[in-house]
Amino acid sequence: MRGMPEPQVMTVTGPMSTSALGVVDAHDHLFLRTPALPGDEFDNLERSTAEAAEGRASGIGTIVDMTPIGLGRRPDLLRAVSEAADIPIIGATGYHRDAHYPSGHWVYDASVDELAERVVADLEAGMHPADWADPDAAPDAARAGAIKAGASYHRASEAERRRLEACAIGSLRGGVPIVVHTEIGTFGHEIVDILTGFGVAPHRIILAHLDRNPDAELHAEIAARGVNLEYDTMGRTKYRPDSELLDLIEHVVSAGHLDRLLLGQDIGRRSMLRAYGGGPGMRYLMERFVPRVRRRIGDDATDAILVSNPARAFALAKPA
Ligand SMILES: [Zn+2]
Repeated sequence: MRGMPEPQVMTVTGPMSTSALGVVDAHDHLFLRTPALPGDEFDNLERSTAEAAEGRASGIGTIVDMTPIGLGRRPDLLRAVSEAADIPIIGATGYHRDAHYPSGHWVYDASVDELAERVVADLEAGMHPADWADPDAAPDAARAGAIKAGASYHRASEAERRRLEACAIGSLRGGVPIVVHTEIGTFGHEIVDILTGFGVAPHRIILAHLDRNPDAELHAEIAARGVNLEYDTMGRTKYRPDSELLDLIEHVVSAGHLDRLLLGQDIGRRSMLRAYGGGPGMRYLMERFVPRVRRRIGDDATDAILVSNPARAFALAKPA
């Protein structure tokens, strides 16, 4: 497109052309701490760097770190990992569902305006260095490039609805997508209704973890609204075998929604990271899962899911 500026994403080390992203792990975590998963926190720079380097060696070109405000997000360490492991990282602002915030946390009392102001500051000035614990702290050099939001199982609480509204305001102001945690893949249509009600375009919405409810008909319905579907629970053998996820991808592609699919790994536990002594680790996507996707739907369709779909989904709607 001669004359048109190249689309860009915002990484923790600055804006980058979407054509340089390569394979995008559309949802992962390099640092995380939440009361919802006690004992499973990970916050070690050397180990997280080693994990990211192994992910890069497996073929991942860019990692989207979806750790939001309040869950031990560390923009300074994301920059350090990005530089040491030589891999672009897109960081996130926004908020998770209620289960990740202890009672009394400021996210429950803050107004929509205040919640939105912090999201916009993370996007435009740089991410807060310490989860907004000290509102006056100087912003980190890393700007967020995506927004996280969350809802509960088949419902959204009043506080979650306020945070969804704040994230919608942030998305419209900052031109970045909203990645919404769905609990066991539920409440997808309703989340889309809520966000579009606040003016967010469907193609700027990414519903995460939908594969926890591997219902291809439901997913095709949601995709038909123009929303992106993120599958990110491969390797969770305790829930179901990966073959079910491959069936799901094949069915949704057959229904005509290839261009709405994204893959991530959502490694949210220390016990899943090889560098912390766990497994299967960040290399699982490219080493174990993607070869099977290629056999099911072919190389062109697989590359669309890994490369061109996320490039479109995470592109900034306005120049950085
Ligand atoms: Zn996650």
